[in-house]
Amino acid sequence: MKVNPFQSAQKQLDKAATLMGLDASVHARLKQPKREIHFSIPIRMDNGDIKVYEGYRVQYDNSRGPNKGGIRFHQDTDINEVKALAFWMTFKCATVGIPLGGGKGGVTVNPKELSVRELERLSRGFIRGLRGDLGPDIDVPAPDVYTTPQIMAWMLDEFNTLHGHQMPGVITGKPIAVGGSAGRGYSTAQGGVYVMLELAKKMKFKKGSTVVIQGFGNAGSYMAKILTKQGYKIVGLSDSRGGIVNEKGLDPVAVEKHKAKTGGVQNFPGAKNVTNAQVLTTACDILVPAALENQILAENAGQLKCKAIVELANGPTTPEADEILAKKGIILVPDILSNAGGVTVSYFEQVQNAYNYYWSEKEVLAKLEPIMVDSFNAIWAIKEKYNCEMRTAAYIHAAKRIEQAMLAKGIANG
Ligand code: NAD
Repeated sequence: MKVNPFQSAQKQLDKAATLMGLDASVHARLKQPKREIHFSIPIRMDNGDIKVYEGYRVQYDNSRGPNKGGIRFHQDTDINEVKALAFWMTFKCATVGIPLGGGKGGVTVNPKELSVRELERLSRGFIRGLRGDLGPDIDVPAPDVYTTPQIMAWMLDEFNTLHGHQMPGVITGKPIAVGGSAGRGYSTAQGGVYVMLELAKKMKFKKGSTVVIQGFGNAGSYMAKILTKQGYKIVGLSDSRGGIVNEKGLDPVAVEKHKAKTGGVQNFPGAKNVTNAQVLTTACDILVPAALENQILAENAGQLKCKAIVELANGPTTPEADEILAKKGIILVPDILSNAGGVTVSYFEQVQNAYNYYWSEKEVLAKLEPIMVDSFNAIWAIKEKYNCEMRTAAYIHAAKRIEQAMLAKGIANG
């Protein structure tokens, strides 16, 4: 049976709420999104036919600032997934203390079946469907699975054309040429690396520690490349078509070239082809899920052979699997902390857009690193204080900030 990710998200909050004594009215407010928008997107296909796609935008909570969160184009995307992702965005922004709320969007579509022009029409149609619901002070989208900087550029152009203004801060993850930030492309992975290096100090991981990464897209491929430069050894990788393993180590740059040529990571010279399920259970020090939600489940958690997990994907682990991992002594750094580098640099992008004044890559990284490191250490301290897992500690940290904002504004009025 398919796990409902929104129910998993609620269970994660419930656990923290009990432990910290979260205000009951704040807890009740956080159980449901503030707004849920369902709309249809009619597209003229290249053959002249009209096809109608289902689109969603969930504006989960804006107590701490405008709603913020990516847009996913995927054939399995549904409202429960988008609600869960919007919920996680709310807690992620609070975890790292950036002044934004949470939102997320999605379209049920397999973008690999569309031509470039059809993809452009779909992207523009998504914005037309939401024209009055977005804005730099209202709700700010960004890329997610199977959406790219090019898609953000089309969306920005559509929004600006509709409104007759240049408002680059309405969307982030844009190409640099149209107001993107230096470093945004790899910021999710970079943030994950800063967090992983802190974890390595706590767990005394040495250079040459082994890493397996599930998902070789934006988040996973940059993670593999940055970690290799840091001296880690990547022993397993996968994408939607399957995985590869080589205990002597994989060169992620060469794998990337191979994937560009062949369409997938499999059949990489010198590596053994494995299934996606086998990649997850490959022996390593650190496992990095960087694909989709619901990958580490009650069924396979007991078979994992890693010492730690750093979640780059959103929601890869179910609450039932969390319990099994805790019993096995596997330390898990949760998504709302470890993948928050992406939204943090998206926030920097919005700040630069507002000033129309741009920072160097060095400046961006110098601002990102302390946010990730300090957040990790604050959450580690909460984990010690409450004797709980890092996920619950991160929720306690984030929920405190949301609680303060909600109570200050008045919940019944929000
Ligand atoms: P992407 O579209 O660039 O890449 C997704 C990758 O996952 C692809 O390599 C795809 O082949 C692979 N994949 C899909 N299904 C798979 C499966 N069943 N098993 C193994 N691999 C599979 O997307 P992305 O932006 O890298 O996002 C990946 C995850 O990271 C998502 O959970 C996303 O929400 C999360 N995330 C992304 C960002 C960001 O800035 N891009 C920020 C925070 C979190």
